[in-house]
Amino acid sequence: MTPTRYDKAHLQTLREGIFKRISGGQLYTAYIGIGSNLGDRKKNCECAIELLQQQGVSVRQRSSLRETQPWGNKNQPLFLNMAIEVETDCTPRELLAILKEIETRVGRKKTSPWGPRIIDLDILIYNAMVIKSRELTIPHPFMHERDFVLQPLDEIAPELVHPVLKKNMRELLKSCAEER
Ligand code: AMP
Repeated sequence: MTPTRYDKAHLQTLREGIFKRISGGQLYTAYIGIGSNLGDRKKNCECAIELLQQQGVSVRQRSSLRETQPWGNKNQPLFLNMAIEVETDCTPRELLAILKEIETRVGRKKTSPWGPRIIDLDILIYNAMVIKSRELTIPHPFMHERDFVLQPLDEIAPELVHPVLKKNMRELLKSCAEER
């Protein structure tokens, strides 16, 4: 019999399937970053939250909206950013699929990596899980370098600990501000 060959993505899917069966519908806490710099920015963020709830993802906390400077490509409109805390029984990949679907439904078109966008949804932290695959990195790889991510997280979860850097959001925000 030819042995089955799995690439990294397959293995991750299998691991998550096992994780879901073992956890038996247990709920996990995740933090999602939301940003928009095109159209009615506030409405886009609200719409994304509404669609998320419709998908059965419970929103436990939401930060205020902050107007922030664009990252990378500066030649684009200001962003509105916020973060939410959610509770879900979705695996990280299922949650990512939901976020991508919502981005499309809110009207996001394919743009350059640092370009303007109607909506951007990122998984920042999922439980204490660490994932590094081609399509998904958790905790979000740049979250600790961006005050527009850390400020809303500090507002809703200052004691939340980054599972790799082992510092909480308040500490990360402080070091991020000092490095500027
Ligand atoms: P973005 O341009 O920020 O929407 O990101 C584009 C791609 O980043 C997505 O298609 C995801 O596959 C990938 N990605 C990797 N890690 C994450 C994460 N933690 N949250 C959301 N997207 C991620």
